[in-house]
Amino acid sequence: MSERILRSPLRGWSAPLEEVPDPVFAGRMLGDGVAIDPLEGTLYAPCDGQIAVLPATRHAITLRTVAGTDILMHIGIDTVGLGGEGFEACVTAGQAVRSGDPLIRFDLDLLTRRVPSLLTPVLLLGSPVPQLTRRIQNCAVNVGDLLLEWAAPQAVAAEAPSRQDEAALTRSVRVALEHGIHARPAAQAAAALKGLRAQVQVHFQGRSADARSATGLMTLGVRRDDAVELRAGGADAAAALEALAGLFSKPEPNARRAVPRAAAAPASAASKAPVGPGGALRGVLASRGLAVGPAALLRRQEIAVAEAGSGIDAESAALRRACAQVQAALERSLDGTRGAAAEIITAHLALIEDPALHSSALALIGQGKSAAFAWRAVIRQSIEALRALEDGRMAERADDLIDLEHQVLLVLTGQSAAVPSVAAGAILIAHELLPSQLVGLETGTLAGICLAAGGATSHVSILAAAAGIPALVALGAALEHIQEGTTLVLDAERGELIVDPGATVLDAARRQIAQAAERRARERRSAQREGRLADGTRIEVLANLGSLADAELAVCNGAEGCGLLRTEFLFLERQTAPDEAEQRAEYQRIATALAGRPLTVRTLDIGGDKPIPYLPLPAEENPALGLRGIRTSLWREALLDEQLRAVLAVEPPGQCRLLLPMITDVTEIRIVRAHIEDACRRIGRTVPVELGVMIETPASALMADSLAREVDFFSIGTNDLTQYTLAMDRGHSLLAARLDGLHPAVLRLIARTAEAAHARGRRTAVCGGLASDPLAVPILVGLGVHELSCVPAVIPQIKALLATLTLEQCRERAMSALAQDSAEAVRARCAGWDDAAGEPAAALRSVQP
Ligand code: PEP
Ligand code: MG
Repeated sequence: MSERILRSPLRGWSAPLEEVPDPVFAGRMLGDGVAIDPLEGTLYAPCDGQIAVLPATRHAITLRTVAGTDILMHIGIDTVGLGGEGFEACVTAGQAVRSGDPLIRFDLDLLTRRVPSLLTPVLLLGSPVPQLTRRIQNCAVNVGDLLLEWAAPQAVAAEAPSRQDEAALTRSVRVALEHGIHARPAAQAAAALKGLRAQVQVHFQGRSADARSATGLMTLGVRRDDAVELRAGGADAAAALEALAGLFSKPEPNARRAVPRAAAAPASAASKAPVGPGGALRGVLASRGLAVGPAALLRRQEIAVAEAGSGIDAESAALRRACAQVQAALERSLDGTRGAAAEIITAHLALIEDPALHSSALALIGQGKSAAFAWRAVIRQSIEALRALEDGRMAERADDLIDLEHQVLLVLTGQSAAVPSVAAGAILIAHELLPSQLVGLETGTLAGICLAAGGATSHVSILAAAAGIPALVALGAALEHIQEGTTLVLDAERGELIVDPGATVLDAARRQIAQAAERRARERRSAQREGRLADGTRIEVLANLGSLADAELAVCNGAEGCGLLRTEFLFLERQTAPDEAEQRAEYQRIATALAGRPLTVRTLDIGGDKPIPYLPLPAEENPALGLRGIRTSLWREALLDEQLRAVLAVEPPGQCRLLLPMITDVTEIRIVRAHIEDACRRIGRTVPVELGVMIETPASALMADSLAREVDFFSIGTNDLTQYTLAMDRGHSLLAARLDGLHPAVLRLIARTAEAAHARGRRTAVCGGLASDPLAVPILVGLGVHELSCVPAVIPQIKALLATLTLEQCRERAMSALAQDSAEAVRARCAGWDDAAGEPAAALRSVQP
């Protein structure tokens, strides 16, 4: 058999690719071939070869012929969204197959009901795509019939390596970004290379992408801990490599952790059927809360585009103008926007400037397509590539591309965006929601959001959480059967949407919402009071800060000062270290924002999971056990001295306290004290500074009595103390559920620390995550903690909780927790204590059917 012949993999009707209702296939953006409308549900091998790609969704397969040509068979259109439902693979990736072997069985009936088309493109891939010499189409075909034939590839003269290649620099980098190279870091890569004269490629598992192409980078599918190779040529190659290596090898300072999915069951298969009155749909928590309201359905505005262009020059210019207009609008909306919304707009800006998207679109325009058709086609191709990665986070980023497609098409077709208007108090129901649509909505009056698709970490979810709108996503297709105006109870604590509930459930939900709103308002009203227990015992509630913006928010929320300024965050988002003057100015701004409240400045805690690109540390087998915290500062004393002088110069001199991270014994403290004295001498400071140490290693907890002689206060870093006590990496996703600071071993170390501090009359604070956990707070106080340094957003709740407890009650809880055998047992015990830390939806649950 010739190696350049393909036989039909299906029984059905062979149609031209142009008939496929998807511009990616119809526009031959992936390759050339035909599409078969199948009459039977088995796909067979069209030639001998090896399975090159078989995604977990089993909706497509790529077979590599013996001569190395890749053949893609994509069963139906939009079938990736079925998540594998209705498909059964007969082969595995890497397996050798013979022509006619069954590859995939699929449920023809299910596909007919669920996807827009069964047309199955059978494509030859490659760059360039092989030249077809025969194409059997517009006729019925049987399995094994001749379908395609192609010419032998032209011999391509081996390219002599260019001067740039010869001079190319390479660097291997282990990616530390929590979610791999997704939209944000991909966008940052392009930004980091701006102005550098270098061509940079990122290579991963045999594939490569231009480092300036956000879409190209995302489609590599690089995840955390993957090793990538960076290759750069050109004048600024070294600087470009440095910038990218720094970006990829440090964790994202603002990486958002997914809302724990265990909290809600994902949409079940049963959720496709319509739900009757009182029935419930299960979804994934995107933003916590409870809401009642009528359903308001949002339908996507479809934009019709003409395929044929009106001339290459005119269409190219139109596309450039439209993109520039959208870019300008995005830049305008970035002005004055902060937080999650700003990050999303920045990601959109990077995508709209993506050179790979533009050159692919211009190539299609060059083939006679209209600007709108070309833009839609390249965006859809990128979306397909992202979804094929089978990485939920990447697939969620596809929403951003859909949004951009929409915005550019609106400009190109001269339409204005239909800003969805949703009646005040309604619960928005949609298949999916674009970030720009949510931003355009009157979010202040929206009661809740329910999406059939989406994920907990999609940008819409992040925006909903930032705006405090309860939201569930991934509710499944049944959501779309809900009628406009149907009364809904959205329980985004349990992950349920109750459709047309009975009066009892409705009343309970309304009561619950009213109580929660009242409680939040009450907590905010009294947030500026001092933190005190019900018996008057003073417990200071401070904030953990990483920036000036955090400080402003913290003060509004009632922070009594800053218990932990993570100064390394001021060093992370840049190419060089801030000098002494810059540091001093930033610390001064934060101190001023705190308006006289204490500011606890922790010296740099770099190394471990917080490397700094421009301060390369020696390669370490185990960075968490290597140079980090105070060890790094003492290894780079000049950096420590600069920082000490900058902090000690802040006015008024008594406002700042110094806190040392990762201390294990008194020797380190004594050395740093000598540096502090020297810094004071140099800047002429005579006022003493309060000095504290982080208790975040078992060594420091066990040596607390000895450390207490040397310092003014302790601040317990429960994040690291838990990591080092339980010997579980704090970034390990598989161990995340077990990495619990309420483990009795950690609690015993906290108890020991507080006792040692008490014996010497020293204060004990907690600045790790436990201080923001309402279940843990009473236990910490009962163990002898005087000060809690929390995430700014929870301060009103923590203060309110403290006011409901007496020291005696806290001590009882602490004793009981210390006596438990495991973290689960401690949490189970906590669940029995019914106070403000209890779950807000408990009452609703008790009346549900
Ligand atoms: C801690 O370890 O608990 C802590 C507060 O420090 P970081 O999270 O910055 O390591
Ligand atoms: Mg720490």
